[in-house]
Amino acid sequence: MRDWMRWRPEAFAAFLREHRISRFYFVYDDARGRVIASHELLQPIAEFLQHDRRDFARHEGIFCQVSRHFDVIMGAFVHKTVRGQSQGGTRFWQYDTVEAYLRDGLRLSLGMTRKNALAGLWWGGGKGVITRDRQADHRDPQIRETIFKEYGSFITSIRGCYVTAEDVGTNTEDMANIFSRTRFVTCIPEAYGGSGNPSIATARGVVCGMEAALEFLQGDSLAGKTVAVQGVGHVGAALVGFLFEKGVEKIIASDIDAGLLEALKKRYAGRNLELRLASIGDNSLATVPCDLFAPCATGAVLNPQTIPDIKARIICGAANNQLEDPIRDDALLAERGIIYVPDFLVNRMGIVNCSNEQYGYVNHDEMIERHLGRKWEHSIYLTTLRVLKTARESGEPPGQVANKLADQLAEQPHPIFGHRGKQIIRSLVDSGWHETGEPA
Ligand code: NAD
Repeated sequence: MRDWMRWRPEAFAAFLREHRISRFYFVYDDARGRVIASHELLQPIAEFLQHDRRDFARHEGIFCQVSRHFDVIMGAFVHKTVRGQSQGGTRFWQYDTVEAYLRDGLRLSLGMTRKNALAGLWWGGGKGVITRDRQADHRDPQIRETIFKEYGSFITSIRGCYVTAEDVGTNTEDMANIFSRTRFVTCIPEAYGGSGNPSIATARGVVCGMEAALEFLQGDSLAGKTVAVQGVGHVGAALVGFLFEKGVEKIIASDIDAGLLEALKKRYAGRNLELRLASIGDNSLATVPCDLFAPCATGAVLNPQTIPDIKARIICGAANNQLEDPIRDDALLAERGIIYVPDFLVNRMGIVNCSNEQYGYVNHDEMIERHLGRKWEHSIYLTTLRVLKTARESGEPPGQVANKLADQLAEQPHPIFGHRGKQIIRSLVDSGWHETGEPA
């Protein structure tokens, strides 16, 4: 194979354009047990995926399009559609290599299968990933509009095997642009019939996870505890309010944005709130003396640098991918006797809040509220308890236990539509989808 994996995505986009390839795919063929590429020229990438042991998990399909206007590759990574069509947000990010791009899509889409299944949602897992072109200012609203409208048409072309949403690097305006070209998108602005900002629900979900972990540990509650909250953006600020309502004694909160800290100080004047201004990449809040640590900023906070000095007994927060290395750091925390509540278990409300947008709106929707209650078997509270108890009994760290449970649930077919996503993918292949795009 040419050294495509080390190429910049922009160079690969230009190469594809030269070869008149505007759309391409890699699809897992169950009958042959092989990954098949849309073009003979690209079969080496299919082989690469086939033999990868790190991130490829028999993903059902990867569909990509080269932008007509920029050196941008836009993709839809469909991991598994047994529980329903794949769903997950679209990341708009700069990648140094084609390999980094593919690996991110593979890893994130598998993560969405697990998050959706563990939440009991009748949705499969997928992720959109769009590369940024270093030559085009990604902040320019005009450029964004062009890219996201193009992406919307691309999403329409894959006929609903993937339903997209907001993620890192995208915003509600981008979703509105996607929505102008496709029906297969959620998390659109309320003005267009979307569900709006999910952060309040996400913060409530984190509280449920904390309460379950305390109950598991010593039949305890949040009252009188000290909680460290890293990041007081949309979720973290709401979390601070809920925690005070629950009788938490003290909160130590940090952010790199002094304005957010100032606003919090005003809002909770008179409460026992200690504020710390952090700098980018500063994870020192992880090691302050407290009962619970809630990462609500960026990923990879739990790593060999922070874990040995963590004083909290429980870690439970909204940030995605808190473990720098999912296997190593899950085990390191367990060895230290620290209870780690898996991030994808407690931060599910982001997707729960928007995944069923097309089924209409109900006040205090039971379909949403049951995730935050204590009766439904898939609620955050009961799932956290189940994961922590199983971890204790099996000696496996909770992240691994949650993954296994999620993988079992991900094999349950959708009660009405069965494995329809796979049928959609087969239809795309049979109808020569890769030849349908306009020249890039
Ligand atoms: P946000 O951008 O509003 O808030 C994140 C905050 O973290 C920002 O205020 C930022 O300044 C701060 N921050 C960055 N680095 C920091 C550091 N080193 N120390 C302290 N603060 C730092 O994002 P959000 O919507 O509140 O989401 C928080 C996290 O939860 C993200 O990782 C997000 O992916 C995840 N998440 C959010 C939702 C949701 O509903 N919003 C759902 C699922 C997961």
